[in-house]
Amino acid sequence: MAERPRLRAGVFVDRDGTLCEEVGYMNHVSRFRMFPFVAAALRRLNQAGYAVMVVSNQSGIARGYFPESVLEEVTQRMKQQLAQAGAKVDAVYYCAHASSENCTCRKPKTGMLDCAAREHAVELQRSFVVGDRYIDIELARNARARGILVRTGYGEGEVAWHAAKWPAPPDFVASDLAQAVDWILRQPR
Ligand SMILES: [Mg+2]
Ligand SMILES: [Zn+2]
Repeated sequence: MAERPRLRAGVFVDRDGTLCEEVGYMNHVSRFRMFPFVAAALRRLNQAGYAVMVVSNQSGIARGYFPESVLEEVTQRMKQQLAQAGAKVDAVYYCAHASSENCTCRKPKTGMLDCAAREHAVELQRSFVVGDRYIDIELARNARARGILVRTGYGEGEVAWHAAKWPAPPDFVASDLAQAVDWILRQPR
């Protein structure tokens, strides 16, 4: 009998405020500033065998604030900077829709994760979502993954002003992506 291919666990990482500075609409590649700890953190996930994927809402496209080519340029720059430090992301997913379009991919809906699960043989229940907004935690919950909130970007304010009304807390609150990765790597596989 053929052995079923083993599914990987994934780490889905938000972009703005988690991998790079939150600058509002990143409408030009010159606004991209990756946090200095990101490459080393992602390299550890790469080495541990996790699929690493970026999942980002970019409604600025639908709103006409900047063209889709900007997303491509930012992705290229991010990949270059990671490659120089021996790290990589396995895939990058964007939702370019406005919330009024009711698509299935805008976070906290799970469309991007469902797609990644199929394309990269990832098991969502063994996976993690890391982000600076509570919608990233809702995304994790909707996908039955674990959610880690980072205090970079909007995170500190999310914790300070909204934690009391969260329907359920994040599985972990980390100072930044590096500490989030520390926590992930301590979890039993
Ligand atoms: Mg964010
Ligand atoms: Zn969408």
